[in-house]
Amino acid sequence: MRLTCEFVPKTLQNKGLSVMLKGRMWSLISRTVKEINGYKCVVCGDCFWLITHEIWEYDDEKLVQRLAGFMTLCSLCHRVKHMQGSLLRTGRDWNKICYIRKFMRINGISWGECKSYLEAKLREWGVRSTKNWTIDYGVFGKHIRVEVPAIRTNWLGNYMKVEKSESRKFGKVGMWENYYREIWDIVH
Ligand SMILES: [Zn+2]
Ligand SMILES: [Zn+2]
Repeated sequence: MRLTCEFVPKTLQNKGLSVMLKGRMWSLISRTVKEINGYKCVVCGDCFWLITHEIWEYDDEKLVQRLAGFMTLCSLCHRVKHMQGSLLRTGRDWNKICYIRKFMRINGISWGECKSYLEAKLREWGVRSTKNWTIDYGVFGKHIRVEVPAIRTNWLGNYMKVEKSESRKFGKVGMWENYYREIWDIVH
């Protein structure tokens, strides 16, 4: 698959490197990754609204989430990458259909394959979300904040409460399933 989805377990939300790094380190990393990737999306080559995505690996036996690298994605591929959050965020339904269509097109897969992939991801996410994970930030470990910031700014510089966005975006697994079903009905 050229573009996979990443469903970050509930217990690990808002603990990514971009949130947890002190000072301006994240913007430095982000700029460097974009430069290395030639200022374009590594999946589709688009260069509009580039985002540095953190690649995480999951050791389901040791319960360790490990930072495995970074990649530059255009904003649409990044929405697809975080399909779970993208489908639940406020926005127009046609945008959400667009995420699913992009996912199918870029991977050259059918609707049925897309559906079973997302369902499997959702099941995996449900199991992982019940576990207590340790986060391995690798070489960045020593630059991590001791406490999770209660409030952070979004890309517009507006303050938003982390707890509020968490409950909105990452609700119960049951709620998820209902939502997916709704979206799938429209796309199909
Ligand atoms: Zn892209
Ligand atoms: Zn990302």
